Amino acid sequence: MKICENCNTKTEDGAAFCPHCGSDKLNLVTTSPQVETKSEKTNNSALAGLILGIASCIFGLLLIPNILAIVYSRRGLKSSGENGGKGLATAGFVLGIITTSYWGLMWAIALLIAVI
Ligand SMILES: [Zn+2]
Repeated sequence: MKICENCNTKTEDGAAFCPHCGSDKLNLVTTSPQVETKSEKTNNSALAGLILGIASCIFGLLLIPNILAIVYSRRGLKSSGENGGKGLATAGFVLGIITTSYWGLMWAIALLIAVI
């Protein structure tokens, strides 16, 4: 995409002149602001998933950070593409699953002991 230096009208890559004012001073724009916002969101979800995954190793007894880790990591995995958030999201997701099943089992055993 190109932006006219004269009137700020957006034109296609191939255009030689501005369709609005006819100026030939067109500046090439490499990144669109939409893509930047999207990648930032993806990384935030993936990063939140990983942090929650690590937190659930310590506070996993409560089962809350584990479940949140799975939720955020899944969100990060869904929207991650070429942005590099996939590794973070995967790590958070695996940690969430492991700590949830571990502490879930611990709670089940504790409940069984309490009942018996
Ligand atoms: Zn123009």
